Amino acid sequence: MLLQRFGQTTRPFHRIKPTPQTSIRHRSYLAPPFLLDTYTPRYQLLTSVEAAKKRSQAYAHLRKCNLCPRLCGVNRFERRGTCLIGQDVTVNTIAPHFGEEPSIQGWNGSGSVFFSGCNLRCVFCQNHDIAHQKNGFDLTPEELAEWFIKLQDVGSVHNINLVTPEHVVPQVVLSILHAKELGLRLPIIYNTSSFDSLASIELLDGLVDIYLPDFKVWNPETSKRLLKADDYATVAMESIKAMHAQVGDLCFTPDGLAQRGVLLRHLVMPGHEEEGKHIVRWLAENVSKDLFVHIMEQYHPRAHVGKPRRSTTGRAQDIADGIIKPGARPAGPDAEKKVRYADINRPVDLKEVASVRQAAESAGLWRFVDASEHGGFNL
Ligand code: SF4
Repeated sequence: MLLQRFGQTTRPFHRIKPTPQTSIRHRSYLAPPFLLDTYTPRYQLLTSVEAAKKRSQAYAHLRKCNLCPRLCGVNRFERRGTCLIGQDVTVNTIAPHFGEEPSIQGWNGSGSVFFSGCNLRCVFCQNHDIAHQKNGFDLTPEELAEWFIKLQDVGSVHNINLVTPEHVVPQVVLSILHAKELGLRLPIIYNTSSFDSLASIELLDGLVDIYLPDFKVWNPETSKRLLKADDYATVAMESIKAMHAQVGDLCFTPDGLAQRGVLLRHLVMPGHEEEGKHIVRWLAENVSKDLFVHIMEQYHPRAHVGKPRRSTTGRAQDIADGIIKPGARPAGPDAEKKVRYADINRPVDLKEVASVRQAAESAGLWRFVDASEHGGFNL
């Protein structure tokens, strides 16, 4: 019953194999290992020496930023790299958010901070207006920490949810440490595309309670074309393993709120369900069969998808838009009538979603975010 409240599928308890001693009793059961009596956020447990080391590492990374796989090497006090963001963060929205998984948003909402800028350039990005350009207000790490406290004290949210933070990790580290001194008591969620470096995840160790990584696509050709990063899957695999090594599988307190662990999201893309199957199989074999997974069906064409093609009919543009394969001849005059990324210019089919879910179950995954069957909270 408890696990149903958490939106999980069956396999509620771990049965103990009878031994000569136990076999004379009725069957024994253990409570699920994913239940915590209480929870103290990890940053509360850092010593002052550990906190000071994190601070100095954060400033060092800002002075020579190679903290994400773009490896710009810029001094962010003077210049901006691919992510467009300098020494301060640019924030578009700070508010209690009710669009997350039930165990994350709870009943008061997740205290979400939507950062502007991004180190990926997904052509279908749902937040492209804030991700692909600088769009918001600038905050120092100390000012950001004060907003965490407002979310806690005024918003009564259940956690601090850092959305698209891969490019502002040093500032996030400084803000969490400052917020701790101001009285923050909430778990920290790192809500990421997974295009993170290992140095970045290491810097976050001891500060983040819940990692909320996406695993978007599997093939390098797909990530090069749709995310503008051909090494995406390789980077994501390494960073997700590092996240899981830090915090393990998702755990809850008895009120149904997630407190610590990894909750992995995969947005099924139209026509790319085979990549989704590769991803869920890899997760089961290389991360954990107890991984909490959200297989998402809400893909809709956004950003550059479905927009009229640019006026050029050149071969390079045709290849970039996926109209022709590399090496093929330029598209004909009809190409001008076509839209960009036409192959993903449709919602995902529910059969495609179901096939990825089936592959996940066959691989041994069993903890999924499912719609509530009773019409209420699915905690
Ligand atoms: S975080 Fe920004 S500046 Fe730093 S390496 Fe990545 S894209 Fe470049």
